[in-house]
Amino acid sequence: MAQLDNLEKPRNNSIKKDAASERKLNFLEKLYFPEILKALAYTFKQMFKPRVTMEYPEEKWDPPAIFRGRPVLVEDNGQERCVACGLCARACPPLAISMQASETEDPKERYPTFFEINMLRCIYCGLCEEVCPEEAIVMSKDYDITFKSREEAIYDKSKLMIPKEELKERLDYLKEYRNRQFGQFWNFPEENNIHAVRPRDENWDTGLSLVDMLEEKNAEDTKSKSTN
Ligand code: SF4
Ligand code: SF4
Repeated sequence: MAQLDNLEKPRNNSIKKDAASERKLNFLEKLYFPEILKALAYTFKQMFKPRVTMEYPEEKWDPPAIFRGRPVLVEDNGQERCVACGLCARACPPLAISMQASETEDPKERYPTFFEINMLRCIYCGLCEEVCPEEAIVMSKDYDITFKSREEAIYDKSKLMIPKEELKERLDYLKEYRNRQFGQFWNFPEENNIHAVRPRDENWDTGLSLVDMLEEKNAEDTKSKSTN
C-alpha cells in the first residue's frame, strides 16, 4: 500500500506561495477610504451618461430583425405557408415540433392538420427556419413568453400563425441575407417559392454548383464592366 506521508504538503505550499506573491498595501490603501471615494466618483459620473437600461416590462424592447425570438408560422392570405414536409421537425435538435400532414386540392397540395411546438423544449436555435423550403416558419421578435402549465406551453396553430405583414422585417432580413439566389440564377419568381409549383420544365439546372454559378456570374459581370 502506498504511503500517505505527504498529505499536508500541498496545503502548506499553497499558503506560502500566495503569501509571498501578495502585494504590500501602502498606508492610504490600508485605510480603504480613497478607494471608496473613487468608486463613488465613478458612480456619480455614470449618472450623467445616456441611459442604456429600460423599465421592463412597462417598457418593451423592440429587437432588430436579426433577433431570434419564438418560432412562428407565416400566415399568407389567411392560410399557413407550411406544406407539412416535416423538415423542420427532423432538424429540430430537442424534438420540439410535431405535425400531421394532410392533402388539399389547391396547388399547395399539402398542409398541416395540426402543427405544434413545445415551447418548453424550444432552444431558439433557428434551425427550423433554416431548413424550411417554403419560408413558412420564421423566428419572430417575440421574447416575452410565459405559461402556467406544461399544457399551455404547447403552442398550436392558433398561437403560431402570424400574418406575413407582421413578420415583414424578418422576412426582408431573410431575403437579404439568405435568399440571395432569387432573380440571379433560378428562373422562377420569388413568389413561386411559396405555395406554388415551380416551373420544373424550364432548364434551370446547369449542372453547376451554386458556388460555380456565382463565380461564373461574377466573371461575366467583370467582363461586361470592362467592355463598357
Ligand atoms: S428554434 Fe430550434 S428548437 Fe425551436 S422549434 Fe426551431 S429547430 Fe426546434
Ligand atoms: S414549416 Fe417548413 S419545414 Fe416545417 S413542415 Fe412546414 S414547410 Fe416543412
